[in-house]
Amino acid sequence: MQKEKVIIIGSGPAGLTAALYNGRAQLEPLVITGNQVGGQISITNEVENYPGFPEGTTGPELVELMQAHAEHFGARLAYDEVTEVNLTGGPPFYVKTYGGEYETEALIITAGASPRRLGVPGEEELIGRGVSYCATCDGFFFRGKDVVVVGGGDSALEEGLFLTRFADSVRIIHRRDELRAGPTLQKRAFANEKISFIWDTVVTEINGNGTVNGVETMNVNSGNLETLSTDGVFIYIGHYPNSKFLEGEVAMDEHGYVITDEYMRTSVPGVFAAGEIQDPVYRQIATSVGQGCAAAMQAEKWLSEREDEREEALAAE
Ligand code: NAP
Repeated sequence: MQKEKVIIIGSGPAGLTAALYNGRAQLEPLVITGNQVGGQISITNEVENYPGFPEGTTGPELVELMQAHAEHFGARLAYDEVTEVNLTGGPPFYVKTYGGEYETEALIITAGASPRRLGVPGEEELIGRGVSYCATCDGFFFRGKDVVVVGGGDSALEEGLFLTRFADSVRIIHRRDELRAGPTLQKRAFANEKISFIWDTVVTEINGNGTVNGVETMNVNSGNLETLSTDGVFIYIGHYPNSKFLEGEVAMDEHGYVITDEYMRTSVPGVFAAGEIQDPVYRQIATSVGQGCAAAMQAEKWLSEREDEREEALAAE
């Protein structure tokens, strides 16, 4: 069993920022990266709203810089995935991964969130065969093709715009007649000749024979059913927190988001959480970075207070 002072679960902006802060505090944090270093931003093409990059940057570039920054101050990365934690009665807290077992004095959970599935027939079977949740990863395969995007938020529009670099046409299917996305992205999407919108419509099935060849849709007002032919279906309908491995260990809300207070403390003293696993509201790189910083500062405080208590107890003996 490997012993650590601080383990950080997850390597997105919240995790890498926590690692940077705890690294600078000489805690030599261990980051268990999850299946993708950088989390969701590693599959985000353009990042236009992270301060300090007036010309914008890319997700992978930002991840590389954040990782290098954390490592520069002594953070260590374990390219592994957590399968189980045992927080009862801790510290120490126990963390099990595919590759090892750890105990740690403090724990920072930044395991993030994953794209939600539509849950319609055809979706699961056709993932990677025309169904995708990542335009940055898969857009290239749709050069000269026609695709649909499902959703009406920032992600749907941003990724829809990215897809116009490759696809001949991008139809955005939204369940209402008003977009949730912010005005800047709306303006860009409406101005793009390759993008069109299908309003008040849901996808009820994805068709394909080995690869996607169409979707079944329903107009939610008229009930009209239609079959649209398409080569690809990109789904951007929000996210769910990656908190399954925490069930029964920390308090969560009814959607599985870890509950934290304003000090990023979870229901278990010594266990902190930051980023999208506890934030269904803001979900920005900038907010995750801030939360990761706060969680790391609180973890450091928790550790030093425990150290003081131990020393006082020793002195009193
Ligand atoms: P989101 O804002 O939650 O939008 C999800 C979209 O999917 C909504 O339009 C929603 O429709 C639709 N939807 C949800 N469930 C559906 C279902 N079962 N069937 C059909 N449509 C469904 O998610 P997001 O776009 O991923 O954005 C998440 C957060 O990240 C937001 O805070 C966003 O601002 C942020 N973000 C920011 C940027 C940026 O600033 N550049 C880029 C990407 C994401 P309704 O509108 O009817 O609810």
